[in-house]
Amino acid sequence: MTYKFKCKDVGMNCKFEFKGANSEDEALTLAKTHAEKAHGVKELSPDLADKVKKAIKKE
Ligand SMILES: [Zn+2]
Repeated sequence: MTYKFKCKDVGMNCKFEFKGANSEDEALTLAKTHAEKAHGVKELSPDLADKVKKAIKKE
């Protein structure tokens, strides 16, 4: 089982996506790193973290 994420599923106008993360934790870390680099988000608010978690899909 791997995990995938599309930034646009969080409501961003952004084409970033990845798949093949080995765990939900890894996917969350990748999403956080992207949010920081691309969107200037230093720390995810609980609300945003929740949206990110919902946007992470198993495949
Ligand atoms: Zn993005």
